[in-house]
Amino acid sequence: MVTYLIRNAQILGGAPQDLHLVDGAIAAIGAGLDAQADIEIDATGLIVLPGLVDLHTHLREPGREDAETVLTGTRAAAMGGFTAVHAMANTFPVADTAGVVEQVWRLGQESGYCDVQPVGAVTVGLEGKKLAELGAMHESAAGVRVFSDDGKCVDDAVIMRRALEYVKAFDGVVAQHAQEPRLTEGAQMNEGQVSGELGLGGWPAVAEEAIIARDVLLAAHVGSRLHICHVSTAGSVEIIRWAKAKGWDVTAEVTPHHLLLTDELVRSYDPVYKVNPPLRTAEDVQALRKALADGTIDAVATDHAPHPAEDKDCEWAVAAMGMVGLETALSVVQQTMVDTGLLNWEGVADRMSHRPARIGRLAGHGRPISLGEPANLVLFDPAYRGAVNPESFASRSRNTPYQGLDLPGRVHATFLRGTATVLAGELVEQGGLA
Ligand SMILES: [Zn+2]
Repeated sequence: MVTYLIRNAQILGGAPQDLHLVDGAIAAIGAGLDAQADIEIDATGLIVLPGLVDLHTHLREPGREDAETVLTGTRAAAMGGFTAVHAMANTFPVADTAGVVEQVWRLGQESGYCDVQPVGAVTVGLEGKKLAELGAMHESAAGVRVFSDDGKCVDDAVIMRRALEYVKAFDGVVAQHAQEPRLTEGAQMNEGQVSGELGLGGWPAVAEEAIIARDVLLAAHVGSRLHICHVSTAGSVEIIRWAKAKGWDVTAEVTPHHLLLTDELVRSYDPVYKVNPPLRTAEDVQALRKALADGTIDAVATDHAPHPAEDKDCEWAVAAMGMVGLETALSVVQQTMVDTGLLNWEGVADRMSHRPARIGRLAGHGRPISLGEPANLVLFDPAYRGAVNPESFASRSRNTPYQGLDLPGRVHATFLRGTATVLAGELVEQGGLA
């Protein structure tokens, strides 16, 4: 196995140190290390973070390989500094059986770029009617612990209660896509002043908040673990803050796009801004940043949602919802949280690696950067400035809202258990299924 000596890297933004990576682990840390390695990297000016962990990625395989595959998605993840991603269940077929989650898990292992932890569907076919085989998915080789019907809300309170009760047996968690379906029929964007002016169907904040309020109460009632996907409103933050103050086992994530963009962008009618939950107001964005900073929101999760051009290059009303995010997440977090003084790099490591790994109960990820730990690491250059160029993406899809935008920072290198998946900003071929 190739050994690495990383010189003068700032661990979590601290004083420059060297790191020696041997046999997949951190073999030595210190200033001016006297060590031999096959490859030496000058990391002057680079920050070292633990490999990022995404709780919310759509890899689209099986079924929509025209949008993304496990291979292209994990290559995009590596380029973004991720060493583990949770693959959402809304594939074709749906990941609601042991067979499908094992297939996705194996494809991830074979890719060699990033660990893929499949998320199991809560209900059969994401139809919200009958619980899927949660136990069988947990017992499978994929070892599923996170369950979600993401894309759809588990809106039946009895089904949600049963799911929460069921996953308790193996310390699982239900990740809810909080969207009251009746309140969001025909919804095209955030309900507010802009939707009124544009005459587009509104997706009101209360449709998210009502489900979150119900679900934190349900989780408390049955003593189970609940995770809220892509929190997007100031009111949702208040409910989660209240639930946490009660001591209930509730966690939440926010996407990079909800930390940066607002519904004013919809005035362009460019479907690249069409996403679910929708972009909200500037007040919501400020509340989300504050909640991520104070820990009310535990994690940043990308909701990476690749779509082929034909599903996005069309009129607003018929365009698919979602945007890619793996390759720009850390830059958006630098711009919105670090450069604003809301989080330091230690905080970024906590919200993008430690906490998401803990929520997903992922062993080997989200670990401290210390001696003997698995070498899941990212080297990040915060001084880099450059316009986002979707043509350079490793993802199969290009639906980014940041095209041409100057975002700070760039991933210089990513290591998965001591193997470089990205070096000098370029993918390292892994000789897998590529
Ligand atoms: Zn969702």
